[in-house]
Amino acid sequence: MTTVAYFEEKFVPIAEANVSITCNTLHYGTGCFGGLRGYWNDDEEVLYAFRLVDHYTRFLHSARLLMCQFDYTAQQLADLTVELLSREGWRQNCYIRPIAYKNDGIYRVWLHDSDDKVAIFSQPVGEYLDAEKAGKVCVSAWRRVDDTAIPARGKLNGAYVNSALIKSDAVLAGFDEAIGLNQDGHVSEGSAANFMMIRDGVLITPPITNNVLEGITRRTLLQLAEDELGLPTQERPIDRSELYMAEEAFFCGTGAQVAPIGSIDHRDIGTGKVGELTRQIRDLYFRVVTGREKKYMDWLTPIPVLENA
Ligand code: PMP
Repeated sequence: MTTVAYFEEKFVPIAEANVSITCNTLHYGTGCFGGLRGYWNDDEEVLYAFRLVDHYTRFLHSARLLMCQFDYTAQQLADLTVELLSREGWRQNCYIRPIAYKNDGIYRVWLHDSDDKVAIFSQPVGEYLDAEKAGKVCVSAWRRVDDTAIPARGKLNGAYVNSALIKSDAVLAGFDEAIGLNQDGHVSEGSAANFMMIRDGVLITPPITNNVLEGITRRTLLQLAEDELGLPTQERPIDRSELYMAEEAFFCGTGAQVAPIGSIDHRDIGTGKVGELTRQIRDLYFRVVTGREKKYMDWLTPIPVLENA
């Protein structure tokens, strides 16, 4: 159970970390957030937080989109997160949620001159999408939010109405997840995960300019695929019809991790089971995030254990 939050510039019991019903962000979606993971390494008995500064750099970029006014640096937010996790003392995988919100009332639907706050809490986490099973996926009838409307490159609260529309329709229709298309009909991403596929032995993913979140896992996997698996990578637009010709496909993200795709719109992808390259990428990713690949320890922050935790 979560016990502590960083809230209004201090650490408080989670039950005291509450915003008012009048909070501007609750009404208009004018906030942004992050989603990070801590991985528990059972052999070493250490909790490792993954790419803290990179996540907080994106968080501050999202905050900039929303004209948030606060002076945190990515390193300061990373340090606060280390302290939060130390106080919490998780001995299992956990999810970390920073949020920036406008602590103003409802009589202003704008971004500037606002009272911006940052809060952070963490909680234990299981799997968001199944990393073992190849999921059943469809292309959503909902289009992905466009950069000219609500920029998808940032993690903006209001944009997650789009994600929720995509996800609920898919699940209620019997699918595990859906792929959103851009306004021009090209592939963007899943409801809360980036999309990757393999064709002719090349790992392909849409460019950020195709209305996708600047995913940290996406960036991680592009690097690992090239450097460790010798897999060529391409960031380029993907047609809907090209999805059906993929040899392998998967979603990736902090929550989704590496989630294999077995079918898209009732067409099997490859054998319909977890693809061989997908399995290699997934296994490597899990070794990296749990501190089992020494070369990538720079991406991990070990969380100190407090004496009385
Ligand atoms: N796209 C969307 C819409 C998401 O919500 C997420 C999850 N944060 C991702 C992609 C994956 O991003 P990351 O790897 O940084 O978690």
